[in-house]
Amino acid sequence: MPRAKVAYFVGPWDLNRELACVPASPADGTVVLVESIAKSRALPYHRKKLVLVLSALRHFAQELRDAGFEVEVVRAKTYVAGIRAHVARTGAERVIALEPREWGLAQSLSAEALGVPLELRPDGGPGGHFLLPRADFAEWAATQKPPLRMDVFYRHMRKRFGVLLEGQKPVGGKWSLDADNRKRIPADAEPPAWPGFPPDGLTQEVMRAVAGWAGHWGEVDGFDWPVTRAEALSLLEDFVEHRLPRFGDYQDGLRGGDPFLWHSGIAAAMNLSLLHPQEAIDAALVAYEAGAAPLNAVEGFVRQLLGWREFIRGVYWTRMPGMRHANALGAGRPLPRFYWEPEATEWACLRDSAQAVRDHGYAHHIQRLMILGNFALLAGVRPLDVSHWFWAGFVDAYEWVQLPNVHGMALYADDGFTTKPYAASGAYVQRMSDYCAGCPQDVKRRHGEDACPFNPLFWRFMVEHRERLSANPRVGALYGNWDRWAPAEREAILASAERILAELEPADPGWTFADDAG
Ligand SMILES: Cc1cc2nc3c(=O)[nH]c(=O)nc-3n(C[C@H](O)[C@H](O)[C@H](O)COP(=O)(O)OP(=O)(O)OC[C@H]3O[C@@H](n4cnc5c(N)ncnc54)[C@H](O)[C@@H]3O)c2cc1C
Ligand code: SF4
Repeated sequence: MPRAKVAYFVGPWDLNRELACVPASPADGTVVLVESIAKSRALPYHRKKLVLVLSALRHFAQELRDAGFEVEVVRAKTYVAGIRAHVARTGAERVIALEPREWGLAQSLSAEALGVPLELRPDGGPGGHFLLPRADFAEWAATQKPPLRMDVFYRHMRKRFGVLLEGQKPVGGKWSLDADNRKRIPADAEPPAWPGFPPDGLTQEVMRAVAGWAGHWGEVDGFDWPVTRAEALSLLEDFVEHRLPRFGDYQDGLRGGDPFLWHSGIAAAMNLSLLHPQEAIDAALVAYEAGAAPLNAVEGFVRQLLGWREFIRGVYWTRMPGMRHANALGAGRPLPRFYWEPEATEWACLRDSAQAVRDHGYAHHIQRLMILGNFALLAGVRPLDVSHWFWAGFVDAYEWVQLPNVHGMALYADDGFTTKPYAASGAYVQRMSDYCAGCPQDVKRRHGEDACPFNPLFWRFMVEHRERLSANPRVGALYGNWDRWAPAEREAILASAERILAELEPADPGWTFADDAG
């Protein structure tokens, strides 16, 4: 069959036949997928992340070959070098791709670099992975006063996509049921088992190769993330049936030894496009209509995808490249060693959360935000050190999603789209988890050798940033407590905080980070 002289570049995160970077029929052109050597070495990526991306890419290539497409998987120094090699071999006269999802590739992928015309198709809207075209987010953002607000954007999205509406009003009377979704997990509540996807032959081959790669974090053993669309759909189905009904109730809960709880775990597959956000939203809505999941769960889940995920990707593109170097609070401390080596701390919540990442390449949202992110915020860790760790360590991490979450939500380093820092003392962890009972530190103490580190660090943070934070009514009220305490109490708290900071061991500086490589 004659083929058009067109090369379709399918990025490792574009693994879905519905996307406009995949030809509709084999006659439309050839497909090139690239395993970029520079990208795989750019950060000390978790080995399970490398296995996930490479195995999913190779499975997708095989799926296309089985459907009759001419597919080449090129292992090359960079993505651009790989596409160029394919163009030279096939004589392709132009290249079609989706808008790259990360800043680095968006800078290097061009017609000049490829030597042939390049058509970039929108990564949002029909044929794209996201619900919203980038231009539509930018248009919405231009109508807003700073800072951009997720709750306002979410209402806009609910109306635009007609989700959970009665006329123009929200089903149930409120746009967000977040206030209902802050329950502590009862000791006798049993989270459903994580389904797990044992590696097939192809994945095992990738695991054997990646196990020997130097300069990376974590182990390949125990890899059980979905790597195909069929597995991703099965994970979504399992979530909707078993975990969605309680997703809302326990969304903010924490429990030692279980990073999955009632969370979906779909981000790893979705960020590779094995799932489209619309189908996850639809699956939750169908469960609601059938009476299989309550409104607080379904609205809570829909808000994550229709609201947070689209918002985060929108702010990434409106605030890059400045967001990378944002440091509104002037934080300058190196990342503590225990992020990479969890056994280096005995603080139970931090050790367990960092262990989850080291073991699975995953921790749930509240571990990310209120434990690992909160500690880095309070300790004044350099934002780029923190975002590099998140980017390297999580199976679902890509710059477009980790950077706004780390620099915006967790660290308040970019204050253009968050209204206040998510700073919390040990009381929050105690209220929402079972960690403190098994910790050598005392969550009730504000100072002294055995005080919970979050307590003195919280107050030191509040004092250091008083001028900025006291203007915010949601945070400013807390200063009343501080002002009431005797000077000796306040001095003891600040002295404890300084001691903790002085004793924090910095991470091994041996890891290397090259944000735009590949
Ligand atoms: C410091 C920090 C770093 C983060 N880094 C990443 C990252 O690298 N990759 C990533 O996908 N998410 C990231 N998130 C957002 C969120 O924590 C994860 O999407 C979620 O924990 C993934 O697990 P899950 O699939 O079980 O999610 P669930 O709790 O089941 O939520 C459902 C889905 O909602 C979406 N979602 C929820 N919150 C967010 C959010 N804030 N931003 C974007 N999508 C969201 C995800 O697609 C997720 O799969 C980060 C959050 C914080 C606070
Ligand atoms: S006492 Fe403090 S450090 Fe220990 S688990 Fe509780 S919050 Fe974490």
